[in-house]
Amino acid sequence: MIKTNKFSKPARKRRWHYLIAAPVAAALVILTGVAPANAWYYSGGMPYATYSIKPWNYNSTWTTPMNNALASWNAHGKVNITKSSRAAAYVTVASYSAAWYGLYTPGTNTFNIKLNSRTLAAAAGVFANVSRSTFAHELGHSLSLADNPVTDSASLMKHNRNRNTLYSPTSWDNACVNSVY
Ligand SMILES: [Zn+2]
Repeated sequence: MIKTNKFSKPARKRRWHYLIAAPVAAALVILTGVAPANAWYYSGGMPYATYSIKPWNYNSTWTTPMNNALASWNAHGKVNITKSSRAAAYVTVASYSAAWYGLYTPGTNTFNIKLNSRTLAAAAGVFANVSRSTFAHELGHSLSLADNPVTDSASLMKHNRNRNTLYSPTSWDNACVNSVY
């Protein structure tokens, strides 16, 4: 889930993304024969795949899947998300009345993520898997991946994925990130 972006990124960064991401996306289309050029790119992501996020301090029920989600993205050769108390980006776990499991809100070269303890506790499947899948999905937005990419490939970014079994970036997700950064 993405919250409407109230912020604008600097023109320099935007231009860079469009110049690089659009041709690469077009190349992906040629390779896969499936998706239009804008089928997976999200402009609210971070300008670099190496960035910091504030450390989280919840009990192990939350920290284990959250750390696993982070580690699964850090396994990507171009991604390095570190924890730093000086980081502007942060994640909050709380009970929200809204229906979503997770919500990504972009800022100017930063973001915040909300994880909904109310809906995640009630979700079908193993909690550790579903919550990990949700956080990994929201981190995918920080890496410029859009919701529901138009592809037959499996993707962490599809809302209809099985969160109990698909909780790590897929080869499709990794390839998209690889072409942006
Ligand atoms: Zn989303």
